[in-house]
Amino acid sequence: MRVSETFRSLQGEGPSSGAPATFVRLQGCAVGCRWCDTRYTWDAARGREVPLPSLLDELDSLGPRDLLVITGGEPLQVRGFDELLDSTCGTWPRVEVETSGVGGPTLSRPNLFWNWSPKLPTVTPLWEETWAHSHEWMAEPRAIAKIVVGEGDDSEAVRLARSLPKDRVWLMPEGVTEEALKKRAVALAELCKREGWRMSPRLQVWLWGARRGV
Ligand code: SF4
Repeated sequence: MRVSETFRSLQGEGPSSGAPATFVRLQGCAVGCRWCDTRYTWDAARGREVPLPSLLDELDSLGPRDLLVITGGEPLQVRGFDELLDSTCGTWPRVEVETSGVGGPTLSRPNLFWNWSPKLPTVTPLWEETWAHSHEWMAEPRAIAKIVVGEGDDSEAVRLARSLPKDRVWLMPEGVTEEALKKRAVALAELCKREGWRMSPRLQVWLWGARRGV
């Protein structure tokens, strides 16, 4: 399968924010979000080809088997993702997948958690495809919706997030600098207080800025 990078860090987003984790970032994404901070993952021909057994060894070499985060790119569009998921769910205590949701969940396991991040209309022409499987995502008990909200996106974010169960919604500020994040987060905090949603930080930006491998 094509891999962009593997690294050890803290989970920076969603319900497990702050937890130490090993990351595998898969190569390939055709969603095209305008604020994407991992554009180097878009071209499915880039990155490196790694056979599954070697990738599993590489992930083990980075640290303890605690939390494994499979991210991208768009994992659902990467060949070999299902095999990776099946294999790691059998050996890691907790696996989380970061996805835009261009398909539905492909596996359900007690130790598998999906961070589904559907896009808002200003973000990509394909935004509706990321909402098309909402019923499947909400039928999966260990899936949450993490909606990234940029400047000017609040009313659409409210409209779409209201279509989901309150306790499954996380709003996350868009931004690649501490200053931009803080400004957005303060505005989103008001929405979260009013609507009963949660707010996700972007710890990796706060701690290390817009860098790869964190
Ligand atoms: Fe970037 Fe993720 Fe959007 Fe793909 S789905 S363009 S990797 S933010």
